[in-house]
Amino acid sequence: MKLDWTDIRGQQRAKTLLENALEMDRLHHAYLFKGLSGVGKRLTAHSLAAVINCQQRPEGDFETPCGECRSCRKIAGGNHPDVVTIEPDGAYIKISQIRDLQTEANKQPHEARRRVVIIDEAHTLTTEAANALLKTLEEPTTRMQLVLVTDQAHRLLDTIISRCQTLRFAPLETDDIQAILRERIDTSDAFDSVPSDQTVGLAAGYGEGSAGRAWQMLESGLLDERESLVRRVIDQRAGRPASLLDLAEDLGRSNDQLEAQLDILKLFFRDVMLLMAADDRDRLVNADLDDLIDQVTDGLSLEGAADRVEAIFEAEERLERNVNPQLVMENLLPRLQLEEL
Ligand SMILES: [Zn+2]
Repeated sequence: MKLDWTDIRGQQRAKTLLENALEMDRLHHAYLFKGLSGVGKRLTAHSLAAVINCQQRPEGDFETPCGECRSCRKIAGGNHPDVVTIEPDGAYIKISQIRDLQTEANKQPHEARRRVVIIDEAHTLTTEAANALLKTLEEPTTRMQLVLVTDQAHRLLDTIISRCQTLRFAPLETDDIQAILRERIDTSDAFDSVPSDQTVGLAAGYGEGSAGRAWQMLESGLLDERESLVRRVIDQRAGRPASLLDLAEDLGRSNDQLEAQLDILKLFFRDVMLLMAADDRDRLVNADLDDLIDQVTDGLSLEGAADRVEAIFEAEERLERNVNPQLVMENLLPRLQLEEL
């Protein structure tokens, strides 16, 4: 993990705010980083930890943790004893985890100037845990910097939000996402061969503002299978329940893959809608599948395409609520097929 402030792409506003606060020595004791997942919130939190604790940072320079001192190296390696991430234990962050944090908060940091505690997926705090955390938020200490991270801020208690300074992280531009993907490809062994520029561009489009989502799509390897996936789904032929069940079982096998598959289907039907409503081929994410898009556009009304996008959104919500994937797909697939193609 690189921890240079300047490597965080597309979040100039959040960075400037933090830099100014650092410069004036007026960091808020608790920040809430909110915004889409995969746009740099955690990276920024770790970079903040590095800037605060770098042992060789030139006086008054808040842009560059050195990246080489003991502190920087430990933070980058994820093994600094004073830079701690609290994550959901199962589905929730539990009160015992917050109590442990409070015990630590009463002690001096092991070796850091200031302990940095990152509460990831903060919306998963149980009510008890959130109420316990309120206490910590109400009694700030210079020994500890808190950063809450969430992509679902609406699920946080108002009392928590009001005691933090909120920094909103914007969706990323496609160019930034492409640059991030290329950097990650360089250091990843996930690919047998380097993905083409076209594939990287396509994945960036699928990210819809999130580098994390774009990466997931790229890594899934499913981009090459878009056409066959769409064809299988729309051409199920009404009255062939056996094949539908097979397909549901096939697609419902792995949650990660399924997420990517639903994304593909969603953006495909959205392209269909876009073409029907605006006839704007430049904005199609799947511009390379224009033959198939044209074919489906001919056999569908705008309303029919919108219904399909809606059905996919509903399926995603059900998956998020932990409904069995195969059930979700058995419900979804009949709503996607086309009578004629
Ligand atoms: Zn350093």
